[in-house]
Formats: sequence, C-alpha cells, structure tokens
Amino acid sequence: PEELIAQDFLDLTPHERATRQVENNIRHAGASLLSPVPDGAGLAKALDMDPVRIIAEIEASGLRGCGGAGFGTGRKWRFAAETEAERRIIICNADEGEPGTFKDRVLLTERPHLLAEGMTIAARAVGASEGILYLRGEYVYLRDLIEEVLQDRRDRGLLGQGIGGQDFDFDIRLQLGAGAYICGEEGALISSCEGLPGEPKTRPPFPVTQGYLGLPTVVNNVETFCHAARILDQGAQWFSDMGHAGSHGTKLFSVSGDCLRPGVYELSYGLSVRELLAMAGGEDAAAVAVGGASGTMIARDQFDRCLSFDDLATGGSVVVFNGSRNILEIVEYYMSFFVHESCGFCTPCRVGNVFLHKAIGKFRKGLANPEDIEYLKDLSGTIIETSRCGLGTTSPKPILTTLENFPLVYAATVKPSKDRIRASFDIQSA
Ligand code: NAD
Ligand code: SF4
Repeated sequence: PEELIAQDFLDLTPHERATRQVENNIRHAGASLLSPVPDGAGLAKALDMDPVRIIAEIEASGLRGCGGAGFGTGRKWRFAAETEAERRIIICNADEGEPGTFKDRVLLTERPHLLAEGMTIAARAVGASEGILYLRGEYVYLRDLIEEVLQDRRDRGLLGQGIGGQDFDFDIRLQLGAGAYICGEEGALISSCEGLPGEPKTRPPFPVTQGYLGLPTVVNNVETFCHAARILDQGAQWFSDMGHAGSHGTKLFSVSGDCLRPGVYELSYGLSVRELLAMAGGEDAAAVAVGGASGTMIARDQFDRCLSFDDLATGGSVVVFNGSRNILEIVEYYMSFFVHESCGFCTPCRVGNVFLHKAIGKFRKGLANPEDIEYLKDLSGTIIETSRCGLGTTSPKPILTTLENFPLVYAATVKPSKDRIRASFDIQSA
C-alpha cells in the first residue's frame, strides 16, 4: 500500500514502523489474538485449575504448534509433565526466520503480555520454573519493550516467586539470537541457549524429555503460547469450533509479495488460497509459496487448495508472485538461502544444497539436459533422507514442488539430450 512506502514511514524507527504496519494491515476474523481483548483472564483461570486439567483443556481444543510442524500442543505439554525431573523449562521460539514470515513480530509488538501469559500457563501446566524467550537477532529493537513487559509482570506478581499467591514460581529471561536461521530449529535454539554453537541435536530424545541442559523442555512458537492463553480464557470448545477438521482455531498468516494489501491476517483454518488472495488483493497471482522457502510452491490451478495441516500446512508464510516473476529465479534464490544457512554439520545438506543450487543455475542459463531433471529429483531425495534436521529435510522443497507444479518451466529451458539429437539425426539421414 502507498502509505507503507511514504517518506514519513521510512523515517520511523523499526518499532514505530512495525506498529504502523500492524495498524494498516492487520485483518482479523473475530476475537482471538489480534483483536484488542484484555489479557490476563486465561492465567487467572489457569491458577484455579489443576495442572492436569489445564493440559486436558489444551488437548481438547485441538491446538497444534504454529511454527509449521503442527505437533499437538497439549500432547507436548503432557509429555513434559509426565517426565520425572526436578526442573522443567519453557522456551518460546521467537526466532521466526522463514523468508516471508513476520507474524510473530506482530504478536511480540502488540501482544507481549498475552505471550508471557501463555508461557506462564504452560509453566503452571507442566511444573516448570524457568522460561526463556529466544528472540530473533533481527528483532533486537523489541528487546526494551519485552524487558519492560516482563518487569511489569514481576512487579504485579505475575512472574517471579509465588505467582497468584500460590506455591508457583516462574520467571522468563530474554535471550537474543545472532541472526542465524538455523537457531529457529529447536535443537539449535536449545544449544544456543546453553551457550553452545547453534547446531541442531540428534532426535530422539526430543526436548520434552531431554532438552535444555538435559531437562524436560517445552519449546513452542510465539503464536502457540498466545493461543493457549486465549483457550484458557475462552475454553477448548470455543477454539475447536473454529477452523477445519484437524486444524482447529485461527491462524496468523504473513502475506507478502505481489498483492495490494500485504500484512498479517488472522483467519480461521480451512480457507482456500484463492480466498486469501482475494482479501489481500493478489488475484493476479501466478504462483504462491505457502510456507516460504521450506514450503510448497503452487500454481494457479491449485488456488482452491486449503490452508490447513491436512492440505497446505504452513507456519504462516504466504508469498504471492505474479506472472512477471521467473519461477527459476525464485527457486535459485531460495536455494542460495539454504546454502547460506546450512550449519554444515551433515554432508548431504552442506554439499548437496550447493549442488542443487548450481543445477538450478544450469536451468536458468539454458544449459540443462533432460537428465538434469532426474538429477534434481535424486539428489533432493538423498538430502531429505539423510539430513539431521528440518533445514535439510525441507531445503529441496522449492525444487521438488516447482518440478511438480510448474513442469513446463523446467521443460522450456532444457536442451535436447545427446541421445535425442542423435535419434533425430538418424531419422533425418534415413
Ligand atoms: P517436527 O515435526 O520434527 O517436530 C515438531 C515438534 O514436535 C517439535 O517441537 C518436536 O520436538 C515435537 N515432536 C515431534 N515428534 C515428537 C515425539 N515423538 N515426541 C515428543 N515430541 C515430538 O518439526 P521440526 O523439525 O521441529 O520443525 C519443522 C517445521 O518448522 C516445518 O514445518 C517448517 O515449516 C517450520 N519452520 C518454521 C520457521 C518459522 O520461521 N516459523 C522457520 C523454519 C522452519
Ligand atoms: Fe546442519 Fe543441514 Fe545437517 Fe541441519 S541438515 S544439522 S542444518 S547440516
């Protein structure tokens, strides 16, 4: 929108800019995360509930992890609560780094109390005493705001010793990332919190049983904690009544690219891509990357597909491309992103992504043969099969999903193979 590129906007501080974008661009569908409802009611109710009942409420709501993978939140909390330990940890993953994803930034800016409330409810449910809010390095400008919120909650007895006058101690410390995408992967994030290099850990064991310093650790996304607080306030039924089979409640989508109304949208699961594009003014789209670089690139004939875990799962990123964009250029850019962000621990990811990137370059230059399409598929399969963490297992997706959904783009750039040239020469000479 024009207001976003006006000079006065460029003169704003990053925090003012984020706030202005929110005012301009938030569209929400009813009272949940982005509507101005007072915070605090969820925690008040949780303090009156048995921890087992809190977990049962979250499980009944159907809430699933909003970072992208969709693991059952109540189930995760139950695993942590059931693991014998003297201490348990709650970590909020606020290291959103997926290209095209900026919805957690809006929650951190607009609803930091709701986030802290959700983390405190999780702590009460699983019996945790320590919380870490791991903030993306690029969001350093939010540090003062969040520290103020945490201090305000301590002053009001909502964090610290004896929360709500009960035998419940829990506090949250803020930890900043340093700009590495891989630190959004939960194992790498935990390593980083432990003061180690941000490298993923081999799973299992999963963090719920052995996480930060070997302790049971619940790692959830910003949005997941915020939903949890609203569910405790409004009830599991209220949440599960919204959405779509298997994908309950609302979801925040970061919509960007070739559309008239980019921004953060809160919408019920089950919406089609076409409906979202109509809201965002992206009806001219020729391609949409659902889930950013590690998601699925779909073509126009698939715009009736549904934004939900059982169809197009996404952490919330929706990037719109119109017909003037070069699909191979987008794929090449996404692959260069993965080459840059691979932590380098496993060879298939460290080296394989470099080869994939080079191979896409061949297609772009018109130097690829039909065999190179098989090469792309084979190498992608190997990387997915043999990589240790989610970065490697999703990095070939821009290639695989465009090969599947935009086959003509590849076909149009390949040179005929030597065999085919020979065959046609033989036919002509015969
Ligand atoms: P995953 O499916 O392996 O795990 C999801 C969560 O469930 C993790 O917390 C994991 O510990 C837990 N879990 C899974 N199986 C478990 C079990 N058997 N017992 C206990 N806990 C279990 O997914 P992942 O590799 O952690 O994350 C990949 C996702 O992250 C992708 O969907 C991708 O889209 C998303 N992603 C998001 C961003 C972003 O900025 N939001 C960036 C990159 C990737
Ligand atoms: Fe590192 Fe890639 Fe291996 Fe993940 S898959 S551990 S990012 S090298």
